[in-house]
Amino acid sequence: MNAPASLAYQVALSDHARSAEQRAALLAGELGFGKYFTDHMVAIQWDKAKGWHDAQVRAYGPLALDPAAAVLHYGQEIFEGIKAYRHADGSIWTFRPEANGARLQRSAERLALPKLPVAEFTESLRQLVAVDHEWVPSAPESSLYFRPFMIASEAFLGVRAAQAASYYVIASPAGAYFAKGVAPVSIWLSEDYARAAKGGTGAAKCGGNYAASLLPQQEAYAQGCSQVLFLDPVEGRYIEELGGMNVFLVYRDGRIVTPELSGSILEGITRSSILQLARDRGLKVEERKVSIDEWKNGVASGEISEVFACGTAAVVTPIGELKGKGFVVGDIDAPAGEVTMAIRQELTDIQYGRAPDRHGWLVRL
Ligand code: PMP
Repeated sequence: MNAPASLAYQVALSDHARSAEQRAALLAGELGFGKYFTDHMVAIQWDKAKGWHDAQVRAYGPLALDPAAAVLHYGQEIFEGIKAYRHADGSIWTFRPEANGARLQRSAERLALPKLPVAEFTESLRQLVAVDHEWVPSAPESSLYFRPFMIASEAFLGVRAAQAASYYVIASPAGAYFAKGVAPVSIWLSEDYARAAKGGTGAAKCGGNYAASLLPQQEAYAQGCSQVLFLDPVEGRYIEELGGMNVFLVYRDGRIVTPELSGSILEGITRSSILQLARDRGLKVEERKVSIDEWKNGVASGEISEVFACGTAAVVTPIGELKGKGFVVGDIDAPAGEVTMAIRQELTDIQYGRAPDRHGWLVRL
């Protein structure tokens, strides 16, 4: 059992909070993703002697960080991504926060950072929404994206686990990912670069993994693709995931297949929810190794009828084509697949309160 949250928060409201008119104008515009931030943030401190302490809700603004803070030198940092959804009756909900809280703990373990109790994770979202609830947009498929993160803040240049850390939550109103309708994307197969290593940090959500994905991401853009597909770092034969999403293949015979958790893949909350929804629909679910040749040959022969990516930001994104050095498979002009769209609809219906939450995934904030 998780212990209940017990940190006492000090709340200091911002002197620079935007007016209702300013907020309304901002929320009515093109929100995009990760561009605008709410008026407040959460900050909680940790050190070896005191444990977690000094929980605050305070004005959103720059951090004062010692230039010797370990995070700036050795990248000791982890983060999460989770959304709040406004339902038709105005209530605000989040989705499986205990899963994100548990993942933050696993990331903390791997990066030798302290573990924030799961109940404190959920409570930190609730504390921020208590002051910034008006920033949760209500347009279709919009949301408030939370970015909880933890950094090693100890001022010490020795290479060892820091003995002081800080946890923060900031929040960003996000528009519908596909404002003009769900559109299939092109994916670039990275053959020269990996995002993770055997025994490395691939299964953790740490900044370094994303830093390692940026150069291949630029290669993808140069090829007209929007995301990168990474192969396993040992043999370079099996598909792992995209830079920021997990991948599913839908077979014509009713199977749905996703790469097994290899130790170098991030375990997506969307991935695990889709596995459940697929089982509920009577699809045969397989979590196993999937070679890049299986993808190429299966799409070419028609045995694989749909491929999609999934993650908190875009929910479910159809993959129209896969490009690599000297090959293209798939058809970017083909409409999104039926199974892909049905799963996307079902998941968003649950998140936005339009369908019964039969697995108890929603938590009211
Ligand atoms: N893989 C990677 C590398 C990611 O960054 C993300 C986004 N957190 C995912 C998969 C999908 O995870 P989730 O469904 O929890 O957003």
